[in-house]
Amino acid sequence: MSENIPTYEAAVIGSGISGMYVTYRLRELGVDFRVFEAGSDVGGTWYWCRYPGARFDSESWSYGYFFDKELLQEWDWKEHFSPQPDTLEHLYLVADKHDLRRDITFNANVAAAEFDDEANQWTVTFEDGSRVRATLLISCLGVLSAPTLPDIPGRDDFQGQAFHTARWPHEPVLFEGKRVGVIGTGATAIQAIPEIAKTAEHLTVFQRHPNWAAPLHNSKTTPEEQKDIKARYEEIYARCWETAGCFIHTPDPRSALDVTPEEREAFWEKLYSEPGFGIWIGNYRDILTDERANALATEYMTRKIRERIDDPEIAEKLIPKNHGFGLRRLPLESGYFEAYNRSNVRLVDLLEAPIEGITAKGVRTTVEEHELDILVYATGFDGVTGGYDNIDIRGPGGRRLRDDWKDDLPKTFLGVINDGFPNLLMVLGPHTSRGNIPRHIEKIVDFNIGIIRHMRENGYSRIEVRPEEAEKWLAQVKDVNEGRLAGKIASWQTGVNANVPGRQTIRVLGYYGGAVRYREQAEQVAAEGYKELLFR
Ligand SMILES: Cc1cc2nc3c(=O)[nH]c(=O)nc-3n(C[C@H](O)[C@H](O)[C@H](O)COP(=O)(O)OP(=O)(O)OC[C@H]3O[C@@H](n4cnc5c(N)ncnc54)[C@H](O)[C@@H]3O)c2cc1C
Repeated sequence: MSENIPTYEAAVIGSGISGMYVTYRLRELGVDFRVFEAGSDVGGTWYWCRYPGARFDSESWSYGYFFDKELLQEWDWKEHFSPQPDTLEHLYLVADKHDLRRDITFNANVAAAEFDDEANQWTVTFEDGSRVRATLLISCLGVLSAPTLPDIPGRDDFQGQAFHTARWPHEPVLFEGKRVGVIGTGATAIQAIPEIAKTAEHLTVFQRHPNWAAPLHNSKTTPEEQKDIKARYEEIYARCWETAGCFIHTPDPRSALDVTPEEREAFWEKLYSEPGFGIWIGNYRDILTDERANALATEYMTRKIRERIDDPEIAEKLIPKNHGFGLRRLPLESGYFEAYNRSNVRLVDLLEAPIEGITAKGVRTTVEEHELDILVYATGFDGVTGGYDNIDIRGPGGRRLRDDWKDDLPKTFLGVINDGFPNLLMVLGPHTSRGNIPRHIEKIVDFNIGIIRHMRENGYSRIEVRPEEAEKWLAQVKDVNEGRLAGKIASWQTGVNANVPGRQTIRVLGYYGGAVRYREQAEQVAAEGYKELLFR
């Protein structure tokens, strides 16, 4: 008897902000589709990352969906930088209001997707062995959805509780009276450490390399601010779309080298005391492109760390030495540095005393064993391509996407369709523009929906990118990356992850020509009938 496999016009993987919006738009277009999500509900990042202190660094009112104007008026962002529970509540409201869940299958972890060239169809296989088929496959995997654990011997031996920040339990984790260890000092650790330190009996932070961080200056939104935000949504949206990353901040047109030291100091003091990313992307235009300007900013931020840490030896350990200020995605913090002034917090420098192994009782370094009740892995994600690598994606002739991307740079068009992989449309694939991500998601999803509409209107069932157009896009991706100091620094954004084998080479994994240039090109492609793509 032949297997009865559910078959759709489109299968979508992921129901975070991208997948939810795709659901809304595909339904609007009348496509026969189904969404498959590994988690038990919508929300993606905000569903998984429930660790203490989790929140975003985008201004809340610039981050939410803009497609539903009614919802913008109905929803109150309680804080200027929304904490995870509120963001998830917001996304649940969107899902409820548009009844999105009825098109989504939860607890469905996609293990493989294979394209049958003859049938012109993807077969999607789940972890439990079940399958579906679809003409189009739309990946909404996000850029930070594949958590990584360090390869430390004895990880399974630990007898206490252990959690990865991106796989946090749904029930509260209580730290009172507990000896807690946090491995990692990246963005999630920088948010979690001050919160855990407040209640833990003792907190040990295991640091390999420190990161730069600047104050978030979060606050509750007052009723007056709420009213003002709601009256200005069109203006906020327009503002996001005139900046390079779709944040509300834009660089100051001056060079850091052209102003007096006094002017610079005053400007930086102002930025350091203001909420949000101003200190990073509202700074002098050249701090991220000119080494001398970056060195000045680095010197300023170094002083700020020294000012905030009581013990000069600890301060020195918290000052990054392997990259200049702002050359990795800057985490914003709320009392991170002050946490190290508490008597219940200890910093263990793994450059001095590397971890030898995890034991039943805790973490053993080359110097001592740290006994712990709770161990938190704040060890981040295999960024950008990790979600794709977790799925065995095979195009015609068994060509594996994972292999294509292993040593070479991805060859995509606008980051939405990869050369040699027909009918696979990506949202936030490598080489799309990024920054304040929901703004980008909305445009990229709209572009993909435009392609699907074009196919339906013209009776096409197959889409590919012309190889020469993928080459051209890659050339542009490389070109606009030139001169970016961040492009030379190992980070998740450049595809480097010390915990993932084969991820030690710096690569360009984003489009850094700015959101405006990205959007204009995408709009032109659509307006001119997608001639860079091949339809049949
Ligand atoms: C701690 C943290 C803070 C952040 N702060 C900001 C911020 O300040 N500003 C900003 O713009 N962005 C921020 N981000 C980035 C954030 O990921 C995006 O803003 C946005 O949530 C991405 O949405 P998405 O739907 O594209 O991806 P995700 O939210 O990552 O959703 C992807 C979904 O795909 C599912 N999935 C993945 N693989 C499979 C599979 N094999 N099978 C089935 N389902 C699968 C996942 O379960 C997940 O639900 C932050 C991310 C993190 C982790």
